[in-house]
Amino acid sequence: MIKMKLLKKDIKNILPGLVIAVIVCLILTHFFGTCCPLRILTGLPCPACGTIRSALALLHFDILGMLWYQPVMPLLVFFSLFFCYRRYYKNKTDKKLFLLLLGIILIIGISAYVYRMYKYFPDHPPLEYTQNNIYNNTRRVFNGH
Ligand SMILES: [Zn+2]
Repeated sequence: MIKMKLLKKDIKNILPGLVIAVIVCLILTHFFGTCCPLRILTGLPCPACGTIRSALALLHFDILGMLWYQPVMPLLVFFSLFFCYRRYYKNKTDKKLFLLLLGIILIIGISAYVYRMYKYFPDHPPLEYTQNNIYNNTRRVFNGH
C-alpha cells in the first residue's frame, strides 16, 4: 500500500523550492543560455551538465543519447526508484544508505566527468565551452575589447 499522505506531504514540501529553482533557471537561461552556475562563471561544463538532455533522451527511449549526455543516469534512475519504493511503499527512510549510495554515484559521476572532459572537451556537447560567461566577459571589459 502506497503511503499517499506521506507522498502528498513530500510534494507539498518540495514544491515551493522546485518552483523557485525553475524560475531562477529560466531567468539564467534567458541571460546566459544555460542555468549551470559553473558554465555561467567560467564557460566550462560541470559534471551535471547534460542531465536534463539525458532525461529527455530517456523519455524518448534513446538509450545511447541518455548515456552520452549523463553516464550515471541509469544509476540516478535506479537510486530514485529504490528510495521512492522504500519511502512510500515500505515506509522506511535509511539516511545512511541514502548518503552512501549518493556518495558512490557522485564519485562515479565525477570520475566519468574528468575522463570525458579529457577525451571530448571542448567540441562535443554537453562538454563544450560557453563563450558568454562572467569570467570571459569581465576579462574583455578590462582588456578593452
Ligand atoms: Zn552544469
